[in-house]
Amino acid sequence: MNREYRNTIIAGNWKMNLLASGVKAYADELMSLVPEFYKWCDAVACVPFTSLNAAIEAFNGSRVGVGAQNMSQHESGAYTGEVSGEQLTDLGVKYVIIGHSERRGIYGETDDSVNKKVHAALSKPLRPIICVGESLEQREIGVTNDLVAMQVKMALHGVTDDLFRSVIIAYEPIWAIGTGRNATPEDAQEVCYEIRAVIRMLYGDNAAKAVSVLYGGSMNDKNAFDLLAQPDIDGGLIGGASLKPDSFAAIINAANQG
Ligand code: PEP
Repeated sequence: MNREYRNTIIAGNWKMNLLASGVKAYADELMSLVPEFYKWCDAVACVPFTSLNAAIEAFNGSRVGVGAQNMSQHESGAYTGEVSGEQLTDLGVKYVIIGHSERRGIYGETDDSVNKKVHAALSKPLRPIICVGESLEQREIGVTNDLVAMQVKMALHGVTDDLFRSVIIAYEPIWAIGTGRNATPEDAQEVCYEIRAVIRMLYGDNAAKAVSVLYGGSMNDKNAFDLLAQPDIDGGLIGGASLKPDSFAAIINAANQG
């Protein structure tokens, strides 16, 4: 974390879990466990489409923003089952995860479709949380930094300096997602440092200092403090440990310290 230049962002990714009817109780419990936020710390709940309305109501007036987990690259039209950026902002959604490895791996999203979705999000405006990261095989071959740099460059292709200010990047090694095996703070720091170097090359030093680069992959209340202590890790994208208010609150509190 570097509170001088950028915000720390703790984002929960509920994936296809929890019900709209349970959102209010979740939000009340979370807010009772995190009564105050420091100005450098933001929290986000990326909930299923069906829970967006309930989450917007439940977190209204709090420091917890609401995000979607995906969106269409298209504006509107004959795309059965898809949800557009405008439909999200119309509800009051502020963030959207783009290019999560589950979307890339299970639903065939590519660097090109990720780039189109990033543009679609920024035009609304929604803040995209762009996910990048390597498989275990790619890490073992030694191409992690090159691959992640390429994913970042392709996701941001054509994004102007001005629009880039809304972008959040999440480094999520695929082998660490949902496995209970997080990257070591040193390994995660190395890749987040490289991501910032790519941003410096593309958008200059000020943009590189200001962008929040998150780590995701089995972050929990036990390892969050050490991961967040790294200079280039500006928060977390958290799956499993965001499903219970107490563990998510503990991670927020690890970031939200005076
Ligand atoms: C994720 O879904 O982005 C994620 C990091 O999941 P988990 O925290 O469960 O590994």
